[in-house]
Amino acid sequence: MMKINACIFCQVAAHEKPAKILYEDEHCVAFQDIHPKAPVHLLIIPRKHISSLNDNLDDDRALLGHLLAVVGLMAKEQGVDGTGYRTVINTNAEAGQTVFHLHIHLLGGRILHWPPG
Ligand code: 5GP
Ligand code: ZN
Repeated sequence: MMKINACIFCQVAAHEKPAKILYEDEHCVAFQDIHPKAPVHLLIIPRKHISSLNDNLDDDRALLGHLLAVVGLMAKEQGVDGTGYRTVINTNAEAGQTVFHLHIHLLGGRILHWPPG
């Protein structure tokens, strides 16, 4: 599995950097965001290092679908599937991407306003 040593989310996926991991399988890891913006704030990442949605993802379609399936699983497990939750993927600077390893934010447990800031 491709791993970038300097990438903090590759390190989380490899259990080299501590994180509150709530789910993992051979393709992905779900863990708590270190600075939660809502009572439920998880990050779902592929084990494979993908920088962002700007990468060429033609060979990763099944993986991307798998990540969304795990989002739904985690929303149920966290008890926000009924009340509602938001999934966010920030891409590049103006959207606020700070970690360049693809991650899906799963936010819930409070009212989430729209449009986001
Ligand atoms: P982005 O701004 O790239 O969309 O989201 C990056 C997210 O990763 C932020 O919400 C930030 O709080 C979280 N984060 C950054 N470093 C760490 C870390 O070392 N551990 C965990 N669990 N979350 C992190
Ligand atoms: Zn990485």
